[in-house]
Amino acid sequence: MSVFFFMRKWSGLFCIRALQALGKTSFLDQAKSLRRESNSKGASARRLQRGKRLSALLNRAMETVFFRHRLEQAGVAFGTSARGEATGEDQALEFFSKLTPIGKQEIRSRFPEGVLTKDTQDGRTYRSTSGTSGERLTVVTNFSRREAGRASALHVLEVATRRSLGASITDIPPNVCNSVCGLDGPPETSVLRHIRRGLRNGSWRSEMFRSDLNGLFERRLMFKQDILPPLDARSASDLSKQMEETWGLLEAGRPYLLRAFPQYLLWLSEYKTQRSVGSHYLKYVMPYGGLACDSLLSRVRSALGVETRNMYGTSELGSVAVSCDNHRAMHIIESFFEVEIFRDGKVVQDGQIGEVVITDLTNTAMPLIRYKVGDIGRILQDACACGRNTKRLEILGRVQETLVRSGHWVTASEIGNIAYSDRGVSNFRLDQISTNHFELQIVPSFFGVSPDVDSIRSRMEDLLSVGGTEPTKITPRILPFVQPEPNGKYLTCRLRPSAWVQ
Ligand SMILES: [Zn+2]
Repeated sequence: MSVFFFMRKWSGLFCIRALQALGKTSFLDQAKSLRRESNSKGASARRLQRGKRLSALLNRAMETVFFRHRLEQAGVAFGTSARGEATGEDQALEFFSKLTPIGKQEIRSRFPEGVLTKDTQDGRTYRSTSGTSGERLTVVTNFSRREAGRASALHVLEVATRRSLGASITDIPPNVCNSVCGLDGPPETSVLRHIRRGLRNGSWRSEMFRSDLNGLFERRLMFKQDILPPLDARSASDLSKQMEETWGLLEAGRPYLLRAFPQYLLWLSEYKTQRSVGSHYLKYVMPYGGLACDSLLSRVRSALGVETRNMYGTSELGSVAVSCDNHRAMHIIESFFEVEIFRDGKVVQDGQIGEVVITDLTNTAMPLIRYKVGDIGRILQDACACGRNTKRLEILGRVQETLVRSGHWVTASEIGNIAYSDRGVSNFRLDQISTNHFELQIVPSFFGVSPDVDSIRSRMEDLLSVGGTEPTKITPRILPFVQPEPNGKYLTCRLRPSAWVQ
């Protein structure tokens, strides 16, 4: 490890400690509290924090027209106090439990006037997300929300890898510019250069400058983070070339943790097996989004010789949950998020599958209360071997990938498990043609292993026929690549909207 790396790492850590001492940042303390609250004795502290934060959040949400409208629709007589506020924690909880979950579309249609609280000069920044089908939501955060986001990002790393500040991480997002740099080209990598440029061209007062500085602060000072370009699998020979370059960059960065889109991790695993290239520096691998299925993760583990950690987060919420071992189920950061599972408009019991609904307890600039994230999952409450006793969340797929047959839900995770348990499958997608007819596009391994197409087809037909009145027919097709969605991600299934969970 070079002297330069040590200097950069320690000067970064020194900067952060200095900022904390000056009272300019508090996320280190918040991360410490999260650690305390997540252990076996932290249950009452977590409950206390949630009660306080929820009450404060609802009080602020009262400032928005949209939230008052939702209360009205729920038949809640707000205004019971003289100023029309939800004052106590009990009352806040009662209001909360009556609210109907809302989706991205509803929030977007009321943005910005309907959904933003009063700006008290609290350092707001705007950020656009990229949905699976390309539909965007702009989320507004204030300084305290961003501090909470940093604390939860740190906590996630600590739980997953036992390291936090200064950890060396490489990211390969599906669409680098959507994730980290907006639409203005590759991200700046030097904090000083960014500040110098801002001062020179006068952009230092702009929202964009502040938002980029925040990103840089996290990427270069909190962590030693490298971001590599996405992989494009339109031809095997081209992918092989890209993989060689990516592997070279990994060698140069020597990350302890690699975070990437699940399919990229699988392709890199295939590449490593094929080329027998070493990666002893790499200890942990984390797929984005918590959506990777067990069979894909197990292939990655055995090929790369790493442990996998699952993380769940979205660009509008930040890090929500993380796994402490190779399991898929992830500890929820309960002090910051209320995570509920809904089915047919009601909260289901733990263990049952439903739609994931999240309340961000820390965003008072743009309250996201009972927000339908668009994913399917379940909550596990059994004790975890690590000693943390928070609820754990398992993500099983996206809403638009979940097939409903006479009340029976078939999740993307079940379908993925069948496909990726075959080592000859590099990528696939199941497209619904009519109610009982599907086309299965299979991309065979880029490195020469042939998939057992008949076996995959018949196992999938069995899975999809459950709950249906007629047997399901699947027509397989071998293709050189599957077309990614507009945001660079891949879907497991492309269902007709009438077949989704409603
Ligand atoms: Zn655990």
